[in-house]
Amino acid sequence: MTDIKQNLIAGDWVAGEGEVENRNPSDLGDLVGVFAQASADQLDATLEQARRAQAEWAGVGMEAKQAVLMAIGNELMARAEELGRLLSREEGKPLAEGKGEVYRAGQFFTYYAAECLRQIGENADSVRPGVEVDVRREPVGVVAVISPWNFPTATASWKIAPALCYGNAVVWKPANATPASAVALAEIIQRQDIPRGLFSLVMGSGRSVGQKLVESPMVNAISFTGSVPVGKGIAAAAIQNLTKVQMEMGSKNALAVMDDGDLDLAVGVALGGAFGGTGQKCTASSRLIVHEGIHDAFVEKLVAGAKAMKVGHALEDGTQMGPVVSEQQLNENLAYVELGTSEGAELACGGQRLDMPHQGFYMSPGVFVGTTNDMRINREEMFAPLTAVIKVGSYDEALATVNDTNFGLTSGIVTRDLARATHFRRNARTGVVTVNLPTAGTDYHVPFGGRGDSSYGPREQGKAAAEFYTTVKTAYISAGTPS
Ligand code: NDP
Repeated sequence: MTDIKQNLIAGDWVAGEGEVENRNPSDLGDLVGVFAQASADQLDATLEQARRAQAEWAGVGMEAKQAVLMAIGNELMARAEELGRLLSREEGKPLAEGKGEVYRAGQFFTYYAAECLRQIGENADSVRPGVEVDVRREPVGVVAVISPWNFPTATASWKIAPALCYGNAVVWKPANATPASAVALAEIIQRQDIPRGLFSLVMGSGRSVGQKLVESPMVNAISFTGSVPVGKGIAAAAIQNLTKVQMEMGSKNALAVMDDGDLDLAVGVALGGAFGGTGQKCTASSRLIVHEGIHDAFVEKLVAGAKAMKVGHALEDGTQMGPVVSEQQLNENLAYVELGTSEGAELACGGQRLDMPHQGFYMSPGVFVGTTNDMRINREEMFAPLTAVIKVGSYDEALATVNDTNFGLTSGIVTRDLARATHFRRNARTGVVTVNLPTAGTDYHVPFGGRGDSSYGPREQGKAAAEFYTTVKTAYISAGTPS
């Protein structure tokens, strides 16, 4: 009999209203676990307790908060091998990426552990003589965290760590595709010396538990990462209660490859950016905008590189690309392959479902060539191991094509020309820009976020996170004596 993993409601692990099975996308015969689904009543109960716990946590000293976050971070890093294996088993990314993600999640906690001690406000003289002004940040209250399956531990951690650091309570609804990683992180947090119910885990579908959470007037702020349609729905629900929102959504990131760039570097950067995490990254390079002077040589090497990638079981040695996360995602990816071909793009390699010794959601990395920027495969987020090459005649055309999108999360350029690199950094309309590096891969101590349909609300990560997880109070103080 499989043990059913429970939700963390008002400080206790409790059974839910039904449960769902979670299977390994590398091997559908492998049952990762069975997970309880939180009920509406449990959500209300946990939100009420979160409010009480938050008031208590706000008064806890900064060193005690720092110790809690440091302990969570240290445990994640120490257990990166074990928890990375669990993550890869349920999400499908190669083991090295799973371990790397858990380690990075630990770094988010240790970074914000240090930030607990750096909560410095501002002082000023008032325009009124004899009056001083004190500006400080206070917790925003109860924060709902809604996270996706593609970085199940890291994305949740870069939201939960600053939320706790700045004195908030957290109610976390993880993606239903990756509940095992969520339970593992929740167990670590729950073991710490924190007020009862400060942190809750509410597993369940987005349409039921997620929707109820974002509609609740008991939630003060919502941090979401996922798709644009769901993000827009959350924003619409949030506005009814004037709840603060921060959303990280879709993207259509472009890498511009210039004819003065290093060919091998360009191909390596493109392959890593396009197919890392099986292309299921909001920072993936899904448009490769290539100068005609280097186009043919680049495409030849890119296609050879994609064909040489070893697709396999996420936990097997040598696997460079695992399966996609679910049957639905695989079907959507294959539909995009058909769409691209029908739009006139040439599929130079891959894009096919693969039969493997284990039954899973495998497909080969696909490269489209001969594409134009107005094709749907270059306008819609595919979230797939698929990338499309667009040939351009000049740097100016490359930049204009990079910016011709509704999204604006990341963009990159491969060039040896300092003037071009500088111009690109200043004129690419994205929240993150890379030079001679993949469009994917960001640090934890600096802001992360995009423009256009990619993001809404304050930036995440680094010190920028304070903007979302706190509210500013301006105090005017007089000595109380007549002037
Ligand atoms: P969703 O946007 O549907 O899901 C993201 C999170 O939101 C999940 O926890 C989900 O729960 C939850 N959710 C879904 N509906 C609601 C709702 N009505 N109210 C509150 N929460 C909700 O993304 P998917 O996982 O379905 O992926 C679909 C597409 O979204 C991908 O193909 C990709 O294009 C994009 N995406 C982008 C990401 C990014 O990092 N930019 C990350 C993930 C997806 P549940 O688990 O039940 O679905």
